[in-house]
Amino acid sequence: MIAKKMVKYVEGSSVIRAMFEEGKKMAAKYGAENVYDFSLGNPSTLPPKEVNEAIIDIASNEDPNRLHGYMNNSGFEDVREAIAQSLNKRFDTHFSQKNILMTVGAAGGLNVILKSIIDPEDEVIAFAPYFGEYNNYVANFDGKIVAVSPNPPSFQPNIKEFAEKITPKTKAVIINNPNNPTGVVYSEETIKELAKVLEDKQKEYGTAIYLIADEPYRELAYDGVEVPYLTKYYDNAIVGYSYSKSLSLPGERIGYLVIPDEADDFENLIAAANVANRILGFVNAPSLQQLVIKKCLDASTDISIYDTNRTLLYDKLTSLGFECVKPQGAFYLWMKTAEPDDVAFAAKAKEFNLLIVPGSSFMCPGYVRIAYCVEKAMIERSFAAFEKLAQSYGLK
Ligand code: PLP
Repeated sequence: MIAKKMVKYVEGSSVIRAMFEEGKKMAAKYGAENVYDFSLGNPSTLPPKEVNEAIIDIASNEDPNRLHGYMNNSGFEDVREAIAQSLNKRFDTHFSQKNILMTVGAAGGLNVILKSIIDPEDEVIAFAPYFGEYNNYVANFDGKIVAVSPNPPSFQPNIKEFAEKITPKTKAVIINNPNNPTGVVYSEETIKELAKVLEDKQKEYGTAIYLIADEPYRELAYDGVEVPYLTKYYDNAIVGYSYSKSLSLPGERIGYLVIPDEADDFENLIAAANVANRILGFVNAPSLQQLVIKKCLDASTDISIYDTNRTLLYDKLTSLGFECVKPQGAFYLWMKTAEPDDVAFAAKAKEFNLLIVPGSSFMCPGYVRIAYCVEKAMIERSFAAFEKLAQSYGLK
């Protein structure tokens, strides 16, 4: 008999698995080239060549005991120092290795920091629409997620409602920038407003409220848009970074947390995060990938491929009469559904072999997420299906 708490997670994940299985069945029935799967956020660009070169070099030349052995739970010191210096160069910060903790991707980092700060019933605020896994991560530590309502059409956080939802139990706020699922980049003005509200509330309640930046999409920003670096705006900011999307390495599970000196209770927080990394069972982030990262700090994946897809899809869907948010970052397009029920809309789309994710999976009904981290040729092939979908709602 599985744990009661797990039952609903298993049910939830079987919905996603069902979608994946359905896609496979559809491909077998209609031919893979006639199914348009926009459901998954799996990078479609190649990792840069520096990654393979680094793997070969490290495997050939690194001391095997260092390469494969246990280490400090926070990771190799030289890797963390190199990351800190790279951040300092890019963002004019002043980190050193003691501020960096290597993690098993962004997911690992979020779980580590939440385990470090959340007591049962503590509240964690997130801005809808948001990555559905936040609900599970917060529940892992018996915290309570508090959602701020979606704020269309800009989908920048609703600052007024945010201020109203902060209570003495608010321990953390998670923001994801650039955003999955909307593709919106929260502006500097937004970040300044968030920081101001948080500072005022910390004073009012005499509490510490950590602002956690979930940043796997930081490098995926288009048209030269700036993604503000949070620690410059708020002392209690913690940054969770990942190489899953920026280097197209989601299976390798590598990322890091930045915990600045200025964060409340810094020494204890670092100590707690180290222990959390260990006792959550990660122990340390994968050693080979840590060493790879050190050699690839200036490498990047080719985001022009996503940029081309972004424009192609946005132009087509808006020309068909669909209302879309023009993505500024990440690789998702956020579209208003042509009927209020987003699940029914996604089911209708499936009739035309289009696989898209209902907004309710991101706590925001009435929208769908279309992941354009796919082959450009698939996007072009899908246009006829989107035309039929538009026609079925009398749009075109
Ligand atoms: N946060 C967001 C918003 C994501 O979209 C994802 C993955 O898609 C993650 C976290 C987890 O990323 P990682 O693969 O680095 O664990």
